[in-house]
Amino acid sequence: MQSKIQIPALVQQMLCCPRCRANLELVSSEQYECKNFGCNCLFPVIDGIPILIDEDASIFYIDDFLSHRNLFFDLSTENPVKQVIKRFIPNISRSIKAVRNYQKFVDFLLNQTNSPKVLVLGGSILGKGMEVVAKCPAIELVESDVSFGPRTNIIFDAHSIPFKSDSFDGVIAQAVLEHVVDPYKCVEEIHRVLKKDGLVYAETPFMQQVHGGCYDFTRFTHLGHRRLFRKFEEIESGAVCGSGMALAWSYSYFLSSFTKSQIVRIFLGLFARFTSFYLKYFDEFLIDKAGTLDAASAYYFMGRKSDSILSDKELIKLYKGAL
Ligand SMILES: [Zn+2]
Repeated sequence: MQSKIQIPALVQQMLCCPRCRANLELVSSEQYECKNFGCNCLFPVIDGIPILIDEDASIFYIDDFLSHRNLFFDLSTENPVKQVIKRFIPNISRSIKAVRNYQKFVDFLLNQTNSPKVLVLGGSILGKGMEVVAKCPAIELVESDVSFGPRTNIIFDAHSIPFKSDSFDGVIAQAVLEHVVDPYKCVEEIHRVLKKDGLVYAETPFMQQVHGGCYDFTRFTHLGHRRLFRKFEEIESGAVCGSGMALAWSYSYFLSSFTKSQIVRIFLGLFARFTSFYLKYFDEFLIDKAGTLDAASAYYFMGRKSDSILSDKELIKLYKGAL
């Protein structure tokens, strides 16, 4: 049977049922079936994108994906005039370390294997600084999300990753773990699908206001983030976006908290951008300061899958903030 599935054949063989983790079989070009008698769940394939969601354990419904293609991340469909105007509006966000961190992540991956398989969570669009990963010809990327987008090639809920254990050499979760209801469970899943010594790279906000409407649940301090990855040996961690960016976000949200009017909020948001965009440049100087570890907009963690667990007594010894 000719498959239109967007993920490569070798990666398809690593798929499993998100409910019971039994093998899946492509029963038509538009449907996967779980081969476990007693489960036999069916999962649709839309435009070559498998929708592998266990509805009973997720906040998402398969029908949401069947009924409409959610393309809100597809910037290529945006009005060109709007795209030009956007270029003249200063941004208040700046990732200081993402490019450097992803380069390091790629170097570590290639050091371990010649053709690493890397799973991206929240990968409907290319994350900030991720170009080096996407352009590396040796890396096989599987880009997942819970929405359709220009780069999505599989849809699933990260609380139940539909891949067999020990499948990937690397997993990336940039600005994802604040948007899941149970980040501990998702990191448990990341740990499971990674091969022995597999690498994880995560960026997660600390001082950032609600930015995903009803899909925004949690923030982590630097140590809280380290604890989330306690089953990983740390390669490196720290602030990825600094306190200048955090201040600009606070100022912008402070202004827009005065009103619910969408028009006024857009105006206040623009005013905030033009009057506070410069704050992010301070982060170039502040990013490695101890005080930034107490006040950063977001933290990163790069680590290696481990068999041992970091104890909480060891965790508190890792505090490197300014107090
Ligand atoms: Zn099943």
